Amino acid sequence: MAPKYGQTTMTSTTLEIRNSQKQQLAPLNLPNRLLLGPGPSNAHPTVLQAMGMNPLGHLDPQFLGVMDEIRSMLRYVWQTENAMTIAVSGTGSAAMEATLANAIHQGETVLIASMGYFGNRLIDMAGRYGAQVKSITKPWGEVFSLAELRSAMETHRPAILALVHAETSTGACQPMDGIGDLCREMGALLILDTVTSMGGVPTHLDDWGVDLAYSCSQKGIGCSPGASPFTMGDRAWTKLQARTTPVENWYLDMNLLSKYWGPERVYHHTAPVNLYYGLREALRLLCEEGVENAWKRHQTNAEYLWQQLESIGLSMHVDKQYRLPTLTTVRVPEGVDAKAVSARMLKEFDLEIGNGLGELAGKVWRVGLMGYNSRRENVDHLIDVFKQVL
Ligand SMILES: *Cc1c(COP(=O)(O)O)cnc(C)c1O
Repeated sequence: MAPKYGQTTMTSTTLEIRNSQKQQLAPLNLPNRLLLGPGPSNAHPTVLQAMGMNPLGHLDPQFLGVMDEIRSMLRYVWQTENAMTIAVSGTGSAAMEATLANAIHQGETVLIASMGYFGNRLIDMAGRYGAQVKSITKPWGEVFSLAELRSAMETHRPAILALVHAETSTGACQPMDGIGDLCREMGALLILDTVTSMGGVPTHLDDWGVDLAYSCSQKGIGCSPGASPFTMGDRAWTKLQARTTPVENWYLDMNLLSKYWGPERVYHHTAPVNLYYGLREALRLLCEEGVENAWKRHQTNAEYLWQQLESIGLSMHVDKQYRLPTLTTVRVPEGVDAKAVSARMLKEFDLEIGNGLGELAGKVWRVGLMGYNSRRENVDHLIDVFKQVL
């Protein structure tokens, strides 16, 4: 007779315990670092405290209340009335993938206007959902003119235009005037990456005519990574309902997720409840400050940073007119080893800044002043460290 579960005949004499991976470690103890890179940024202490609370069940009425609060505050920070506004369980890339997965119908043309690394990621992802991807590009650090976008839209007649508002790889901010109208005129949906703008740079999704947008929790919002804002408007929702085949991604299918986030409250996945606590608190702090004040704070502190960097002989990569307040690309002076400088800052000063990506590798450092970290004293500290290291 076969042994019942739990009554196995195996003993340590017949089956050896494999101990090769077992470690005897001290409790986790990591340095306290100031994160002034492209993200994550440090979360507000209140947010960290919230994430340490005892988890509730993901269908607990109290937790569902937290979800509703998150939805409402996301709409405020983004300046949208979209009913379908939620947080995706995953990082910004998951919310990015969610916009594409729910908007693209197999075989249709999607135009990506790419001005850097994250625009290129949109190209990669859109292709995976069966789009005929067309792209236009700009040198890293520049932005598109409305005329350039119009010309590409007229050439390719896409069903969707996707672009990045705040390109974290270059530090450039794409002006949004007229793009939504252009997309409506051409019958295309507009997808916007607001990962490095939401909470730190003005985002007026409804006024701009944005149909789908996504963001993350760890940059301008000031939480830890893992719960990412997603929104879609009526035009995108109607298109989703017209699909004849299921969304190609089960986890990110908004038809299913809307049943969890909406009144039906149908189980879909186990929400990372503690991350949602953090997001709720970070958004609460943003509401308390007022989103316009948060935008102003980011702009003021960024301008102070630029002025201070110039005063020690450093210069910025992006034209002031298009410069992001959340992420600054600083030119590496001739003869300086960029990576050695950032590595030393991390090791000796517990200060993180980012290195250049792609076309800008070795040519710039990336300095983030995002969310809770956008503070004047952080600029002073960074300048002090730059002086010592350079
Ligand atoms: C950080 C970032 C992403 C990806 O977000 P993750 O949270 O790292 O997955 C996407 N787009 C832009 C512009 C970003 O800066």
